Amino acid sequence: MPSNIVVLGAGVSGLTTALLLTRDGKHNVTIIAKHMPGDYDIEYASPWAGANYLPVATPGSPAETFERNTWPELAKLASNTPEAGIHFQDTLIYRRAKDKGTPVGDWFAELLKEDAWFKEVVPNFRTLPENELPKGIEGGTAFTSVCINTAIYLPWLVGQCLKHGATVQRGIVNHIADAANLHSSGNRADIVVNCTGISSLYLGGVTDKAVYAARGQIAVVRNSPQGVMMTTSGTDDGDDEAVYIMNRAAGGGCILGGCLQKDVWESQADPNLAVRIMKRAVELCPALVPPGKGIEALSVIRHSVGLRPMRNGGIRVEKDVVDGVAVVHNYGHGGYGYQTGWGCSQYAAQLVHEVLARKAKL
Ligand code: FAD
Repeated sequence: MPSNIVVLGAGVSGLTTALLLTRDGKHNVTIIAKHMPGDYDIEYASPWAGANYLPVATPGSPAETFERNTWPELAKLASNTPEAGIHFQDTLIYRRAKDKGTPVGDWFAELLKEDAWFKEVVPNFRTLPENELPKGIEGGTAFTSVCINTAIYLPWLVGQCLKHGATVQRGIVNHIADAANLHSSGNRADIVVNCTGISSLYLGGVTDKAVYAARGQIAVVRNSPQGVMMTTSGTDDGDDEAVYIMNRAAGGGCILGGCLQKDVWESQADPNLAVRIMKRAVELCPALVPPGKGIEALSVIRHSVGLRPMRNGGIRVEKDVVDGVAVVHNYGHGGYGYQTGWGCSQYAAQLVHEVLARKAKL
């Protein structure tokens, strides 16, 4: 007998979990969400992401397993599935000693290591010799990563879910247990998967006070950094400002970032920060513009803001029971929801299977 599952949320977490649960053909999956791919909203993190794979997890943490398990899936898609909108990129990571202990320096602490745990996960990892370091940079590494065009990847995930039989519906729930009543079969769902991102802070039955926002502002431009993705450990413009450059696959434009502003919920782009972002990007990667030109030579598509759904204590992938409804949570992915996406969703799907197997025995 197939089980009825409701997945609440249609960001990268909800869609990847739903895809894994539909793909085995044993379940009837309904995806319910307030926002869907195609929407741009401050409560919906997934469309704003770059997105790339730059591991930041602490060794030995669950997040390390999630990042480790995600790489092979992203690499497979980049190699075999061009319609998913993911491509490989040469990647440069630059370190400055003075950024140690700053919010951005701490965020990238593992990424910046020359002996990083992921050196055997990603291809072509190497330490940069001194003659390859730009002025002001004290160390760095290079490896092959991926950049995801989220405007293609999210709809591709929806398409895969539909192809495997999932139903996709708009809906807003005020309490997680209410989601069990929204299964497309008309019957009560056997289990609800909570993939509501930052909304887990105030969703009834969850109200997880460990969830907080870290605001990210980006510029999307038509200029190309000529096939290289790069970031540094910090900037001289403020401890929570960052500089990173990534060219999305398949005409998605080039993302220039950014910042990591804790507990800031402002949805509109700050024009002064926008100028600093563009200046830093051109300084770091002069190839973005013709020789001798500055930010006036950037062709801007838009300036955007997204909120990273951070969580003190890390990503929550866990079983729960709320008002008698079986729930598996998968939220709190901060600035790493794509690079942990497959790993988290595999674990969430495993927990769903465990709950359903126990229910079947009762
Ligand atoms: P979301 O995408 O926010 O989706 C939540 C879903 O739940 C939505 O569909 C919403 O409508 C639905 N929902 C919420 N509440 C309700 C409700 N009550 N009823 C119904 N539906 C509800 N990550 C990386 O891995 N690499 C990167 O390079 C990267 N860059 C980033 C850059 C920026 C500027 C930002 C902001 C983020 C970046 N991230 C990156 C992080 C990544 O975007 C997030 O971790 C990820 O998108 C979180 O996805 P999610 O599915 O958990 O949440």
